Amino acid sequence: MRLILLGAPGAGKGTVAKLLTQLDGSVQISTGDILRGAVQAGTDLGKKAKEYMDRGDLVPDDLILGIMEKRLQEPDCQKGFLLDGFPRTIPQADALKKMLAGLNIKLDMAVNLNVPRSVILDRLTTRRTCSNPKCQAIYNVKSMPPKKEGVCDKCGSPVVQRADETEEAISKRLDTYNEKTAPLIGFYQKEGMLTDVNATSSDAVVAAIKQKLGK
Ligand code: ADP
Ligand code: ZN
Repeated sequence: MRLILLGAPGAGKGTVAKLLTQLDGSVQISTGDILRGAVQAGTDLGKKAKEYMDRGDLVPDDLILGIMEKRLQEPDCQKGFLLDGFPRTIPQADALKKMLAGLNIKLDMAVNLNVPRSVILDRLTTRRTCSNPKCQAIYNVKSMPPKKEGVCDKCGSPVVQRADETEEAISKRLDTYNEKTAPLIGFYQKEGMLTDVNATSSDAVVAAIKQKLGK
């Protein structure tokens, strides 16, 4: 399958993407994971991206488009892909449309994960992420803590609160989302590609997507 996952930070795009990869071998492409990996590895890209990310701002479109142009041409994308966190602005969506047309790739749909703001705030403040860039498993101190406190079940690395998950940065990210990313819902509606789902449980979202795709 070839999907775009839309939704506010904390809507569950990453969790849903991971569940969907298990269905048919489609790969999850998370620009957030790619950027955090680059920051930890101290690459040029990471150095450029870090200050924007820590503030809760978007990284400039040209950096993101450079990453995605390469990523979409890697062989593992042939089985399908789940775009998690990209596109995030109208210029990114326009560029993606051109990129896909050039590569002769057709998307199935753009899925908007609809979650009330109160749920989002609660999720983001209690979210914890594995610090190993290759793993980046997601936990929640209330609903899904690791078996051993502060240690990743999957790889044993420390589980941490992301630098952009302080209350100040979270509120900034939600404002940025409303201003820059929410307009993509209208964009994909006009393209006739939008599916809107109520996303209070990730399993329900996966079921709705499977049904839409006829799987
Ligand atoms: P979340 O969706 O939980 O906010 P992500 O992991 O998707 O977090 O992204 C973390 C940060 O990485 C964003 O706040 C932003 O700074 C940067 N980022 C990720 N994807 C993009 C993108 N497509 N365009 C611009 N910045 C991005
Ligand atoms: Zn881990």
